[in-house]
Amino acid sequence: MTAWHLAVDRDRCMGTGICAGTAPALFRLDGRHSAPVNDSIDPDESALDAADSCPAAAITVTARETVIGPRP
Ligand code: SF4
Repeated sequence: MTAWHLAVDRDRCMGTGICAGTAPALFRLDGRHSAPVNDSIDPDESALDAADSCPAAAITVTARETVIGPRP
């Protein structure tokens, strides 16, 4: 199984907490910003859901060095 990689751009993140609400196992608020609980995860649709729903487009999901989320 190919690992996915999660990243949050702290310069873009507005600290809404939407990602932590959408995927609480994957994202948590770290002060005023979100951060991935783990940078590397097993494929998990909720990571894409979180990336899609981030109003700041701050979340990037990558697999095999290809960005797969947020989805167009
Ligand atoms: S949904 Fe986006 S803006 Fe909101 S806390 Fe998560 S990464 Fe930050």
